[in-house]
Amino acid sequence: MSKRGRVRTGDQSLVREINLSVIMNQLRQNAPISRAALAEITGLNKTTVSSLVTELIEQHFIHEIGITSSGMGRPSVLLEMSPDAGYILAAEIGVDFISMISTDFSAKIIWQHHETTQPTQGQQAILDRLLALFDEAIAASRECCEDRLLGVALGVPGLVDYDNGMLLFAPNLHWENVILRDVLMAKLNVPIVIDNEANMAAFGEYYLGAAKGHEEVLYISAGVGLGGAIVKQGQLYRGITGFAGEFGHMTMNPDGRVCNCGNQGCWETLVSQSILFEYIQNSGERGATSPLFEQNHDGQVPSLSVPIIVEAAQSGDEVALEALNRIGRDLGIGIGLLVNVLNPDLIVFGGILSLASEFLLPAVELELDRRALRWNRAATRVVRAHHGQDACLIGGMAVVHQMLINQPTKLLQQIA
Ligand SMILES: [Zn+2]
Repeated sequence: MSKRGRVRTGDQSLVREINLSVIMNQLRQNAPISRAALAEITGLNKTTVSSLVTELIEQHFIHEIGITSSGMGRPSVLLEMSPDAGYILAAEIGVDFISMISTDFSAKIIWQHHETTQPTQGQQAILDRLLALFDEAIAASRECCEDRLLGVALGVPGLVDYDNGMLLFAPNLHWENVILRDVLMAKLNVPIVIDNEANMAAFGEYYLGAAKGHEEVLYISAGVGLGGAIVKQGQLYRGITGFAGEFGHMTMNPDGRVCNCGNQGCWETLVSQSILFEYIQNSGERGATSPLFEQNHDGQVPSLSVPIIVEAAQSGDEVALEALNRIGRDLGIGIGLLVNVLNPDLIVFGGILSLASEFLLPAVELELDRRALRWNRAATRVVRAHHGQDACLIGGMAVVHQMLINQPTKLLQQIA
């Protein structure tokens, strides 16, 4: 074959992959839809559309679902994505938990698991547990989706070298330089995505959640730590080395307490689950009364959790309300800075502290009114994450889903 011929073949397969992706994207957004309508929307000719659709049906990504007789002309067969095209596994290693879901190709959860962990368990034990859970998830998903695992995503609470699937630094886990992709590849012979948990959560909210239809989105996640991510024109903004969105480590008080990152007075030292607990414990030590300090029938004072604090606040408990108000104020001051710098149209608030949104967000709105430039302020809204604590898992699934839609043939070649 001549050199020119090889280049031409490459171009043709690239064009075909792009066209397959165009069809898949239309089906994601506009299904059920006929071949004729696909041709009309995409501008591809009917013969090409028909050939692309045949290939996607053979790959089990799409299927025919019935006939439309509405409108002019002949009745035509409608197409949609096949929910059982395969399943996707998405996992999250948190500071004190491991979560995992298995979903079909329509994003329906078919298996899920959550368990708490202790950082003292050590890295190897937590990774061994993660791999064991992948086995459980695969066993539970076999009956569904042609027994075809399409891809795996893993979100982690730290800085990730995205291209190499490597966790560089997770301050709250005290992990450094872990090549997670190699750990997973030893067991899973499919496309694997490793990313920061907030990046995945932000993408999940954009693809399937509270930020659907918004192009300039800021995602803030508050829990054990404080993280975030930026969606810019529909894509994650990663910065030059991939670490954009580390909002939690903005210095808010140069003389503040030392952060797990080594800096002093980071935003994360003012807004986190442990600071919320500390405010409440301090109130107790000062002699305040609250149902949060009352013994239960075992004579024990239950340990604090965000749901318990929210319940106390809902019943009007001053200790809980004051602590949440302080956290909300510091959350709002930081968000005000970001609104001035990034001018987003939507801020999505997730992580476990988002369970207290009804108490935190009014304080955030107040600080935005006070501190953000009014033109930036007017353009933005703050909403609670749609997927709550599952945002990272749903986001991981969404990242793999989008990869498959954008490169269906290329990714299928990686699936053994
Ligand atoms: Zn820090």
